[in-house]
Amino acid sequence: MFPAKNGRLSWQEALKFINKCPVCGVEYVPEKARLFAQNEKANLVHISCKSCHGNFIAMVLVMQGGISTIGMVSDLNFEDAKRLHVLPPVNIDELIEGRKYINNNDLILKIV
Ligand SMILES: [Zn+2]
Repeated sequence: MFPAKNGRLSWQEALKFINKCPVCGVEYVPEKARLFAQNEKANLVHISCKSCHGNFIAMVLVMQGGISTIGMVSDLNFEDAKRLHVLPPVNIDELIEGRKYINNNDLILKIV
């Protein structure tokens, strides 16, 4: 079991469960993970892979009964993640406008 602080596991200890880069499989260095947001229940952590330089964002929930993590590969560096996570979610009108912009400018065809 992990050392507890005030009866709770620390987010750094919980990161031992996220030990490999989901892109290239190289082991992360947990000490390189950086916390960019935190509240009573959740910690948002940014990790960069030393091998492929991919970025990974994890939400680490540390509770009395254990931990839970949710993660995603991201193109955001640490500073972007710290700056952008506070923005409001995209609403339906913005989504429709974005889709129209993509279609009207044939952006899908330009990517392929
Ligand atoms: Zn990697």
